Amino acid sequence: MSKVPEMFGSMVFNDKKMQERLPKSTYSALKKTIQNGEPLDLSVANVVANAMKDWAVEMGCTHYTHWFQPMTGVTAEKHDSFICPDGDQVIMEFSGKELIKGEPDASSFPSGGIRATFEARGYTTWDPTSPAFIRDTTLYIPTAFCSYTGEVLDKKTPLLRSMERLSSEAVKVLHVLGKKNVTRVTTTVGPEQEYFLIDKEMYDRRPDLIYTGRTLFGAKAPKGQELDDHYFGSIKTRVAAYMKELDEELWKLGVLAKTKHNEVAPSQHELAPIFSTANIATDHNELCMEIMRKVAERHGLVCLLHEKPFAGVNGSGKHNNWSITTNTGENLLDPGKHPEDNMQFQLFLAAIVKAVDEYQDLLRITVASAGNDHRLGANEAPPAIISMYLGDDLGALVESIIDGREYRSHAKAKMETGVDVLPDFRKDTSDRNRTSPFAFTGNKFEFRALGSSLNIACPNYMLNTMVAEELSRFYEVLKDVPDTDAAVKDLIKKTLTAHQRIIFNGDNYTDAWIEEAARRGLCNYQSLPEAFAHYTDRKNIDLFVRNGIVSEAEMRARYDIELEHYAKLLKIEAMTMLDMAKKNIVPAVMSFMKELAETISLKRGVSDSLSVYAEESLLQRLSDRMEAFVKKTAALEEAVVQADQCDDLPACAMYFRETVFERMEELRTVADEMESETDAAVWPYPSYGEILFGV
Ligand code: ADP
Ligand code: MG
Repeated sequence: MSKVPEMFGSMVFNDKKMQERLPKSTYSALKKTIQNGEPLDLSVANVVANAMKDWAVEMGCTHYTHWFQPMTGVTAEKHDSFICPDGDQVIMEFSGKELIKGEPDASSFPSGGIRATFEARGYTTWDPTSPAFIRDTTLYIPTAFCSYTGEVLDKKTPLLRSMERLSSEAVKVLHVLGKKNVTRVTTTVGPEQEYFLIDKEMYDRRPDLIYTGRTLFGAKAPKGQELDDHYFGSIKTRVAAYMKELDEELWKLGVLAKTKHNEVAPSQHELAPIFSTANIATDHNELCMEIMRKVAERHGLVCLLHEKPFAGVNGSGKHNNWSITTNTGENLLDPGKHPEDNMQFQLFLAAIVKAVDEYQDLLRITVASAGNDHRLGANEAPPAIISMYLGDDLGALVESIIDGREYRSHAKAKMETGVDVLPDFRKDTSDRNRTSPFAFTGNKFEFRALGSSLNIACPNYMLNTMVAEELSRFYEVLKDVPDTDAAVKDLIKKTLTAHQRIIFNGDNYTDAWIEEAARRGLCNYQSLPEAFAHYTDRKNIDLFVRNGIVSEAEMRARYDIELEHYAKLLKIEAMTMLDMAKKNIVPAVMSFMKELAETISLKRGVSDSLSVYAEESLLQRLSDRMEAFVKKTAALEEAVVQADQCDDLPACAMYFRETVFERMEELRTVADEMESETDAAVWPYPSYGEILFGV
């Protein structure tokens, strides 16, 4: 397959294939489900299942799997073959029931204690809005995952619910504004994905990368990212070959892989797709991360998706571009030529401003992870403080609304001189601030605080839900007023005035902003345990329960799952460090010290006049550091033992953050100092220089 259009979607049971392979009535029934969320009949499902199976078998498939996104943070699948006994032979079969519902044993997936152990059953249900696809001779069916008693056990169900919710609330508001022809609104998302690519041989020699996805030790290389020569630099041959194959694999799966380039740190890269509906974008991003890893293996490389694989150079994030579009094709976040007259745009903008202000804690929580703790607030990615950037034009418009002044945009001013050639609201004036965690970028918002490995379902269902909530409140205000125009204007002004503290157009990396944000009363949570302490605040539980996204019990379960997961991850990191310290680093430095000591006595045996200054001073320094290292190893070990005694989840997570993590950092510092003075031939691990500049 050489031509891209032929290759694109060849492994997907997409609309074209459905149209070709399904009877007209089945096709239109399925389309109604996909487009309008109408329930699907079993008889329709039977026909669809059979057509899917025929296609999959023709493509060489032997198995199918329900593919789902449990709370583990990675996707899950259980494969069943299509075989069905027929006398002493088998035939290939796949029923509508098997398509619609699966029953994987759910007992080992995290549920936060929702599911009693005797009730292990969990169900996967087909999500017809995301197309089935083929990988490795298996038909993959995107599904949602819940327990026997209906509790949500995955990330996709809340996303689907939140999309419905946002749609119905947005439609009601649009109807008030006179847009009666709109019947549905869709959330669109384009996630830009960062990653590191390193040589497999280097990876295999680093237990820290193998067990934790990040380096726990490692002295800085003489060169890092200070020359900015990697960002958008020309792509190395081996990386280019990887990227080419990655694109092709993604295209076959119908993923709209569009942009690829080198990122800021050495060995760091980015891939961005063209946006699609939030649901498909989520599935595709999960798929993308898996394919990135798989393709790397074939090139003798390893793709690292950890948020901070290497200290001292940038970590990896994900930019979640988010917007809302009507079924009539209108992007509700497009300000148009004259945002000052565009009440509909202003109203939706006001809803988002209010949502981000009132639920800034939730936005912070949704991007919290052990890995992302290394980035947020650590002076690289956006800070831990959530604020919004609107850009010069829109910022000025909002100010003029609040102050009740007439708005004069840059574009307008030019127009009066007769030289305006700008076709639309100027996008470039809104994209200059790369430090903002939540930036308006022309016709969408870009949420930039996500970590690279995060499942984007979570930030998107938070966003959808909080915006749906504000829209439903707007609707209550507007639905019965005699003069809609006046009421809308008044509501916009009141809302923007009340929530203007969340708007910040300056540099988010400065200390001045941290102080200013504190004055404004904005949240600044430095770590996952600190952020999650607010997850089950009353207003947050109310938000999700009122909008029917997840129940209070489910939220409490999620809270437990996250804190437990965090503590487990930090424990694995600490244990890995201890292992590396005791089994490799200590013996390596000791053998080097022995060599130095032997050299000193050998030299002394030859002649008293030979200088042993170099050996002695080095030996002295290493000896001192080794003493500190061994003591700090013991201190870390002690902290891990202490942590095991803690049975209160939040306290345990906080202990890991405040004590275990601190001791890990201290241990690392000493190791890195020793690394920079020890013979490279005896140091047990490849250096940062070798790893970061090795491909
Ligand atoms: P850049 O950030 O480099 O200027 P773009 O703004 O064109 O690039 O797009 C960045 C990402 O935003 C892409 O993944 C793109 O598909 C996505 N995007 C563009 N428009 C929308 C939209 N309406 N909704 C969601 N994502 C969008
Ligand atoms: Mg971008």
